[in-house]
Amino acid sequence: MSQPASEPSFRESVDQMFNRAVSLMDLSPGLEEKIRVCNATYTVRFGVRLRGEIKTFTGYRSVHSEHMEPVKGGIRFALGVNQDEVEALAALMTYKCALVEAPFGGSKGGLCIDPREYSAQEMELITRRFAYELIKRDLINPAQNVPAPDMGTGEREMAWIADQFKRMNTTDINGVACVTGKPTNAGGIQGRTEATGRGVQYALREFFRDAEGVKKAGMSGTLDGKTVIVQGLGNVGYHAAKFLSEEDGCTITGIIERDGALYDPNGLDVESLRAWLMKHGTIVGFSDSNLVEDGAKVLEEPCDILLPAALEGVINLSNAERVQAPLIIEAANGPVTVGADEILRRKGTVIIPDMYANAGGVTVSYFEWVKNLSHIRFGRMQRRQEEARHQLLLDELERLSTDKGLNWQLSPNFKEKYLRGADELELVRSGLDDTMRAAYSQMATVWHSRDDVDDLRTAAYLVAIEKVAASYQAKGL
Ligand code: NAD
Repeated sequence: MSQPASEPSFRESVDQMFNRAVSLMDLSPGLEEKIRVCNATYTVRFGVRLRGEIKTFTGYRSVHSEHMEPVKGGIRFALGVNQDEVEALAALMTYKCALVEAPFGGSKGGLCIDPREYSAQEMELITRRFAYELIKRDLINPAQNVPAPDMGTGEREMAWIADQFKRMNTTDINGVACVTGKPTNAGGIQGRTEATGRGVQYALREFFRDAEGVKKAGMSGTLDGKTVIVQGLGNVGYHAAKFLSEEDGCTITGIIERDGALYDPNGLDVESLRAWLMKHGTIVGFSDSNLVEDGAKVLEEPCDILLPAALEGVINLSNAERVQAPLIIEAANGPVTVGADEILRRKGTVIIPDMYANAGGVTVSYFEWVKNLSHIRFGRMQRRQEEARHQLLLDELERLSTDKGLNWQLSPNFKEKYLRGADELELVRSGLDDTMRAAYSQMATVWHSRDDVDDLRTAAYLVAIEKVAASYQAKGL
């Protein structure tokens, strides 16, 4: 999405946020520049024969930083994709991976296309052809560059890309690790599809454990009972809304989609709306009484938590002043422009920044990549052994209780829970939760301890840049 003419582009916005953070650090200007700039962006134009004629598509793969390899970042299918956007997203990937300690450099790709205009067979032809162009230049490769889903792409596209790589590299035993976000029957991992939304949930839980942070937002209490407005009911927005409403007691009062919004202070039914959207491709017709035609206006409605999960630049100079939520969690990449960020900071709004808030996706992608390289699912070796050891302990407790005439009775519910060894999904969720807690703690320490840092975004940049700089310095740069 293009920002108002008076605002910098998405990439400039990211650079300015970076500059604000590095001005508080003691890095050499040369290293600063090295970290800021995007190393390379490859543009490809390719033709695909569709409906009897050749149609030309334009795609990009941008590599922001190779301080660690492979580099990592999603592939976006959307009409608005352009070089500036892909470079901004690649830069955010560098900082995001550093912040959550996923051992990757930053990259991102995109194809200018509206996937809704093509059939599944046509999309497969186009995706495979785009993948072919990137694979032959090592811009998709398990050791060098590993894409994942982003807007407009999902498991289906990732499976096609992995298969295309295997066809072109028949003897590469690690070929399936060339892309993450695959379906579980094609080398994927349990919990990847939900991962970004799940990470948003864990991020919010962690925020509400930080009493000082909650106070800075002028809020109180826990997540329970908070009202949430969500923009974008796609992969990220849907999972975040689902988990927050089903597991944390939140009420989803607004859902904004591309063709309008639904708003109901009493709460919306996320599952039914998602099912409607999947079936009809629009939210229009779901509930006429709650429909707001100018959907973006709902960003300005009162709520506790605003959760933009669609695209960049939606909170900008034209509406930031009217945004009422005391807490914004950037589930999308770059939803708040640099100008809006300044206005919101002045108003005291707390923003949980994108590079942290939506890092659940890359975190679980990291687990998937490791799983692919080790060729074994997590938990396969330990699970039953863990159960056997737990059984041993319970048997011994029961024996002691009988011998000593104590008559202890462990509740069946406890026994069942305690005995069960963790499966892959539980391990993935545990690793994700741990990652989100550790990264939050690092950001919050900077946020609460430094007088010159008054927001979580700057804190996140400081933590991330420090790590990227240390990595470059270790290489002798
Ligand atoms: P998606 O394509 O699954 O969903 C996007 C949703 O936003 C769709 O429902 C679409 O209809 C809606 N939308 C599009 N334009 C809109 C507009 N103008 N107003 C309101 N809604 C609009 O995409 P996604 O994977 O959920 O990604 C959403 C955001 O999250 C992007 O910024 C992406 O970069 C970021 N993100 C995604 C992942 C991931 O794992 N998928 C990981 C990290 C970050």
